[in-house]
Amino acid sequence: MREEMINLIKLQEIDLKILAIDKAKEEFPESLKKAEEALTQKKEEYQALENEIEEIQFKRRKFEEELEQEYQRLKKSQTRLMEVKAQREYQALLKEIEEIKKANKQREEELLQMMERIEALQKDKEKLAQEIQELEKKVAEERAKYEARRAELDKERESIWQEREEIAAKIPANLLKRYEFVKSRRNGVAVVPVNNAVCDGCHMNIPPQLYNELQRDDKVYECPICQRIIFFKKAYAELLPPEEADSSDNSS
Ligand SMILES: [Zn+2]
Repeated sequence: MREEMINLIKLQEIDLKILAIDKAKEEFPESLKKAEEALTQKKEEYQALENEIEEIQFKRRKFEEELEQEYQRLKKSQTRLMEVKAQREYQALLKEIEEIKKANKQREEELLQMMERIEALQKDKEKLAQEIQELEKKVAEERAKYEARRAELDKERESIWQEREEIAAKIPANLLKRYEFVKSRRNGVAVVPVNNAVCDGCHMNIPPQLYNELQRDDKVYECPICQRIIFFKKAYAELLPPEEADSSDNSS
């Protein structure tokens, strides 16, 4: 039945297209993946920077409070200095004042360093925020491209699916069932050509007797090795994609 075989070949071709579409839909674009990874990394860097700034700010506030207390202490000591009469006490107080002043000077320097560090970190943070913004834009763009591609593939699949339904309806139910069964077990390929007595599915030689029958009549045969439905390539060459139809038997 040449008609049956033609429909099976067409169905197979359509199913391969559907398979390719489904595969393409699964592919997550590398460019989107890269942009998303870069964004995640920058966000982590930003968070770490924020934590560091917060930590230094906390330390800074503590330092400032301490310094304020020390200023008060200094003031008190200086006031008392005016009041003491005893030379020894005066000397001791003077020494204490000097020590407080020295300690405060060191605190002031440390405080200044902290503020400079915070300022530098704030600048880094601003730069990172800008980079994050740019990456977010890039991710959004890449994602939109990806979604558009998927929508395109869905549409393509839908139209091919309609074509498939029309052809499948023309194939007898038991043959269609056999086709589906083989397809499910053979990576989506159930119908293959035989060229030079070699099955295109399993690449094994088919027995000469079967090869003769295959060339002679249009019955639906199957490869005894891989169980795929086979057809004589030269007899259906017009149905095959050009690059496949090219390599016919060497006798031509
Ligand atoms: Zn085979």
